[in-house]
Amino acid sequence: MSETFDYVIVGAGSAGSILANRLTEDGTKSVLVLEAGRSDYPWDLLIQMPAALPFPAGKSLYDWRYETDPEPYMDGRRVKHARGKVLGGSSSINGMIYQRGNPMDYERWGGDDGMENWNFAHCLPYFKRLENTLGAESSDEYRGHDGPFTLERGPAKNPLFKAFFDSAVEAGYSRTPDVNGYRQEGFGPFDKHVHNGRRMSASRAYLRPVMNRKNLTVKTRAFVSSINFDGKKATGLTYTRNGRTHHVTAGEVILSGGAINTPQLLQLSGVGEAEHLRSLGIEPVVNLPGVGENLQDHLEAYIQYACPQPVSEQPNLNKLKMPWIGLQWIFGRKGPAATNHFEGGGFVRSNENVDYPNLMFHFLPLAVRYDGQKAEAKHGFQVHVGLCTLMRVDPSKFVPLIQKNIRVWCTTIFQLNKIVVSGWKPYELHGRLCHSLLWLHIIQVKFLLVLKFKQMMKYWIG
Ligand SMILES: Cc1cc2nc3c(=O)[nH]c(=O)nc-3n(C[C@H](O)[C@H](O)[C@H](O)COP(=O)(O)OP(=O)(O)OC[C@H]3O[C@@H](n4cnc5c(N)ncnc54)[C@H](O)[C@@H]3O)c2cc1C
Repeated sequence: MSETFDYVIVGAGSAGSILANRLTEDGTKSVLVLEAGRSDYPWDLLIQMPAALPFPAGKSLYDWRYETDPEPYMDGRRVKHARGKVLGGSSSINGMIYQRGNPMDYERWGGDDGMENWNFAHCLPYFKRLENTLGAESSDEYRGHDGPFTLERGPAKNPLFKAFFDSAVEAGYSRTPDVNGYRQEGFGPFDKHVHNGRRMSASRAYLRPVMNRKNLTVKTRAFVSSINFDGKKATGLTYTRNGRTHHVTAGEVILSGGAINTPQLLQLSGVGEAEHLRSLGIEPVVNLPGVGENLQDHLEAYIQYACPQPVSEQPNLNKLKMPWIGLQWIFGRKGPAATNHFEGGGFVRSNENVDYPNLMFHFLPLAVRYDGQKAEAKHGFQVHVGLCTLMRVDPSKFVPLIQKNIRVWCTTIFQLNKIVVSGWKPYELHGRLCHSLLWLHIIQVKFLLVLKFKQMMKYWIG
């Protein structure tokens, strides 16, 4: 069966949802969106209910469930790597923290040859265009006020947030009114992709409102297996749906399958480093070294504490309380289930030699893992510490991610070796990090668990 569209988009994730909306806006072009995952049904609590965020990751209904090969610098541990496989893509299973990059990152991009249009002055209007920032004054020039992504701020009312912010100030860091505004550096409440108690995914913001446009067709459970070429020109795609193979021709093929699937689809279709493709039995169409290499990501580790004072949100993880919390959410979109709980945090520089923040802190007034497991404490909290500069994999050691059998997909992702992070000294980070954590003063902090801390330091230091 063959179909024809002006544009065919692979993947209805964050990028695909926005593209589908914008390309069909003036009604003149026909657009087909092919999404391998299922729909983000309005009744699907694990997607729609913000506090259910630890549950979809790791489940095949929502997640591609990648994991790395054994990491040589992490005692052979495999690192799980979630990627959304559902309408909305990763924005339907993510942590819902809304965070722009630091303006200086875009300045750095803009400094590269041919990249002038990626400096902050060029990017800012696009950020503003997508935001409807409820937490900002309408006169705030740095934030958008009528875009499709309605963003709620904080409110970070749990007393542990105050303790966290106060302790940051006592440790010598500053407060900032808006980590996405004029000044990122400092601590304060975060904006979140949550509105009226529901997840504000890219699908909810951009795709669902326009699903009835006549020139837009969205197919879920449609798995794209190859790009079709006429010479070196992409002319369409092959995909399977309900066990049947389909061919679609397109004026333009747009790949928005995410950082792992997009290069993989290119490689499987013959676009990549020619010798490498031949070694896998794939006939190259375009010799394009770089495809499937240079994957970048940001590392985050979290540190959990028991909290002797009964002020955390931990009791809400009690299974006996969950039915009541669920009912509050179902009938009123209210209560502890109506937030992602990542309501505040901060950005700091790890040492004087870096010009702008390279570390981020997310604070959670409960202790829980991304797979839904909670810590063995009546009350707890945790601090996520992450790199806000991207970590780069050592290209000389990197093993490209493709595997020939497309149903197995890739297992090797990072092969983490020495990670190159500009201006970052791990020892100093360790010192300052401990310093700020020790200042959590209104609670008698009892050290509960430092997640694989030894491994983590070994991994950071290399
Ligand atoms: C667990 C988790 C937590 C996160 N937390 C945050 C956070 O709090 N804040 C934040 O800003 N970011 C967060 N992120 C990152 C953020 O969600 C992603 O960076 C972003 O959604 C990526 O957008 P994308 O369009 O590139 O890809 P995705 O949104 O992943 O979309 C890709 C889509 O393409 C589909 N697809 C792939 N291959 C094919 C194929 N062959 N055929 C058909 N369809 C295909 C996929 O199923 C998917 O739906 C998180 C991510 C994860 C996984």
